[in-house]
Amino acid sequence: MAKRDYYDVLGVSKSASKDEIKKAYRKMAIKYHPDKNPDDKESEEKFKEAAEAYEVLSNDEKRQRYDQFGHQGVGGAGGFSGGGMNMEDIFSQFGDIFGGGGGSPFDSFFGGGRSGGRRTRKGTNLRIKLKLTLREIAEGVEKKIKVNRLVVDPNTSFKNCGTCNGTGQVRKVMNTMLGQMVSTTTCPTCGGAGQTVDKRGSGTDSMGMSRKEEIISIKIPQGVAEGMQLSMSGKGNEVPGGVPGDLLIVIEEATDDQLKRDGNNVIYELFVSFVDAALGTTVEVPTISGKVKIKIEPGTQSGKILRLRGKGIKDVDGYGVGDQLIHVNVWTPKTLSKEETAILESLRGAENFEPKPSKSEKGFFENMREFFGA
Ligand SMILES: [Zn+2]
Repeated sequence: MAKRDYYDVLGVSKSASKDEIKKAYRKMAIKYHPDKNPDDKESEEKFKEAAEAYEVLSNDEKRQRYDQFGHQGVGGAGGFSGGGMNMEDIFSQFGDIFGGGGGSPFDSFFGGGRSGGRRTRKGTNLRIKLKLTLREIAEGVEKKIKVNRLVVDPNTSFKNCGTCNGTGQVRKVMNTMLGQMVSTTTCPTCGGAGQTVDKRGSGTDSMGMSRKEEIISIKIPQGVAEGMQLSMSGKGNEVPGGVPGDLLIVIEEATDDQLKRDGNNVIYELFVSFVDAALGTTVEVPTISGKVKIKIEPGTQSGKILRLRGKGIKDVDGYGVGDQLIHVNVWTPKTLSKEETAILESLRGAENFEPKPSKSEKGFFENMREFFGA
């Protein structure tokens, strides 16, 4: 799935002010809000896309990174539940956009149906680290993860909170200079859940919660990288009277003893003897998808970079695939027998052994420039 430019998504220019960005997002959020477009997949996608764009462009630091590095700079890994934002995250953004006061077009969404007038409580997120081999990263993998979730114990029962009568909120009437003012706050007794513990199951905490070990299966897409975070909505800790938090999976890369990752390219350091470099040979090199044979041409110089096109890592955003680069290092022997020394001595000064680099012979730095456009 190709990601659209965030400025295009919101329909603003690159130099748009914070206010313009906010206004543009507000318009889109109203237009594509799921309550206005029930069961409309396209609107939902647009809604999420706009929320994600706003999330980045409304934050100075993220916006700067995005301007500099694009989607990569803000960890914009497509395919993970709309770039890492779920509906809960998006709705929590709205406090900022539409303000708390009356008259906002979203009062009906919040006050009306969604949660009976009370904010949905959300359990805490669980965060785990997941170490992957280069091969798993390149091919994508399904992993089973053991998590220890906080769950509402099945033996715990709840009753309606006496303080708020199950609404989760309490109203406070204050006499001020301007007259009576009514404010609504979260119920201090139940913390907004509307329920309190009636009977606790054995071995539970004061909230009637217990720990439960669960095996969760997760599909890791191809091309993830160290530090990326995948989110599984609702697989975190439960909370009484609310929705569970999320399970956050932080990717770690295991080091491979042969191949090194550089972005989506894979680098292999190949050592050949100078006899093989001079006479040419065929060698076997490891790649992510198994061994391949490559030809070393006679007269190959140390520092040459060979490229196996498409043998790298597929981009996590789905844009193309990297290459495998083979750095050729010509090995100079460190110890020599008497006979070997004699043979080499006899070649010292021989015409063809004198370095005669031509214009086309590139040094190491030129090779690097050519391959990485540095
Ligand atoms: Zn209460």
